[in-house]
Amino acid sequence: MKLSEIMQNGRTAFTFEIFPPKKDMPIDTIYNTLDGLKGLKPDFISVTYGAGGSAADTKTADIAQIIQEKYGIEAAVHLTCLYNSREDIDLICEQLKERNINNILALRGDFNPKASCEPKKDFLHASDLIAYLKTKGDFHIMGACYPEGHQEAVSLEADIDNLKRKVDAGATHLLSQLFFDNDAYFRFLEKARAAGITVPIEAGIMPCTSKASIERMVTMCGASLPAKFTRMMARYESYPEAIKEAGIAYAIDQVIDLISRGVDGIHLYTMNSPYVAKRISDAVAPILNPHLKGTD
Ligand code: FAD
Repeated sequence: MKLSEIMQNGRTAFTFEIFPPKKDMPIDTIYNTLDGLKGLKPDFISVTYGAGGSAADTKTADIAQIIQEKYGIEAAVHLTCLYNSREDIDLICEQLKERNINNILALRGDFNPKASCEPKKDFLHASDLIAYLKTKGDFHIMGACYPEGHQEAVSLEADIDNLKRKVDAGATHLLSQLFFDNDAYFRFLEKARAAGITVPIEAGIMPCTSKASIERMVTMCGASLPAKFTRMMARYESYPEAIKEAGIAYAIDQVIDLISRGVDGIHLYTMNSPYVAKRISDAVAPILNPHLKGTD
């Protein structure tokens, strides 16, 4: 299903994110992940782009092509602009067109001290990239949003003003940063709508499967942790199997609450784990779009 169609008739989207295999791993290792995800029928799978990634690295686009051609699932590529010049973006756009990839999550990216080059100066913000991509072809462009504000923003309100710039530049769909507090998400949503942002916003859900992974993510993105979540972590942190199961249960609970409160879509950070994605999909599938049963 095309991205522009997935939310028609009040349909709640269910989408996945995966990342390419590490540099020293062959690209074929992604088949293990995709074989496990294909039966879960996500509306699309997006593929991340390495921080400091260069135009010469086509792994993201190659995997998106595999998702569409071998698995018959709509794909989206993430694309960052901090370390790409206008010429690099031109080249990437050509590569995407050759592979029939129309969906792009356009991002600024993060400053990376280990990047192979200095930041290029052609695009300062994601909105600059979005405006440029609009001139390069008929791409469906998404942007990132931050329910608790981007870490560099002076306030959530200022961040939402900048988010509006992305939409005004041509983003027609937003994917959110991970969060664990649904109330924070709905406070953000209310402010975004009041600021005139009317495009669909998918809620980013990251199942917590280990103490270490969650601590890393929270340090990186600054998501706040509700007491219910920290209690769970404290109780099970020494038991890897238990914390994984508790993390899956927490994510399912979060997703059910989001859906019942009318969220536009759920964007699941699968961490390339078909097991975790399947557990959540199985629990969520019956309640996702009951009003459309038989029409999908
Ligand atoms: P921007 O929209 O440019 O925002 C960055 C900061 O600048 C914000 O504080 C914003 O308020 C401010 N700002 C924006 N526009 C303006 C303006 N015109 N004037 C002044 N200030 C402005 N990173 C990767 O490297 N690879 C990935 O694959 C990847 N995937 C991601 C997927 C999702 C769903 C999300 C939420 C993030 C992802 N990231 C990825 C991380 C992302 O690159 C970082 O969060 C980055 O710091 C910001 O990217 P952005 O596109 O939101 O930037």
